[in-house]
Amino acid sequence: MPNKHAVLSASSSHRWISCPPSARLCAAAGDRPSPYAQQGTDAHSLCEFKILSALGRACADPRENLTFLDSEMEACTDAYCSHVMEQYEDAKRRCPDPLILIEQRLDFSRWAPSGFGTGDCIIVTDDVLQVIDFKYGLGVHVSAEDNPQMRCYALGALDAYGSIYDISTIKMTIFQPRRDNISTSGISRDGLLSWADAVLSPAARLAYAGSGELKAGEHCRFCSAKASCREYAGYTHEQAARDFMPSDADKRP
Ligand code: SF4
Repeated sequence: MPNKHAVLSASSSHRWISCPPSARLCAAAGDRPSPYAQQGTDAHSLCEFKILSALGRACADPRENLTFLDSEMEACTDAYCSHVMEQYEDAKRRCPDPLILIEQRLDFSRWAPSGFGTGDCIIVTDDVLQVIDFKYGLGVHVSAEDNPQMRCYALGALDAYGSIYDISTIKMTIFQPRRDNISTSGISRDGLLSWADAVLSPAARLAYAGSGELKAGEHCRFCSAKASCREYAGYTHEQAARDFMPSDADKRP
């Protein structure tokens, strides 16, 4: 059984690209699972079941083992399943033998040591590689634009299937039903590979070695090392000071 959480995981890539030392610091701090994470896991299990069933593939119904199953989760996963099946039908019209992969392990270790992640849905055709990610969270509106997680998944899929399909374009979609958000972004194959060489690989080398500079920002939100991070403490202090700073309008007599 492979290690479920890579030090350089796709899902945390925004954080370790921005702050390379955070990869090793988080690995040392360990996971702190939240109820929200379990809710997301439940929703993903239901998505997988519904799509595999729609594709006519065998999959056990997970409902009786889900902690957070409710009518909202049923509706959101139905909507996601419909979206994926529409995209797959469209792919079948464009390509005689499209490939659809659900909950697929994607290895992007060519650019990041031991880097891997699990893609919710990958559709591969000649010309277009499509990556679709389901987000059940409500808190943060997630955009597919310049999204490192999606690009890491795309790299893993490109590495695995780029020699079988003639891929020239990557289409990445975030499906976030509880925020009424379907965000799509595209990049050329060459553009993706250039980003991997210029941005991902250098940051991954530093992150894997536990070196580089600490850098705080909005990417600290999900960092499990932030309780003991001085850089983060300074950042929050600055933010608080800025919030209390009188505005120009306040200074006018
Ligand atoms: S809290 Fe922020 S600055 Fe500190 S290690 Fe984590 S990501 Fe880096």
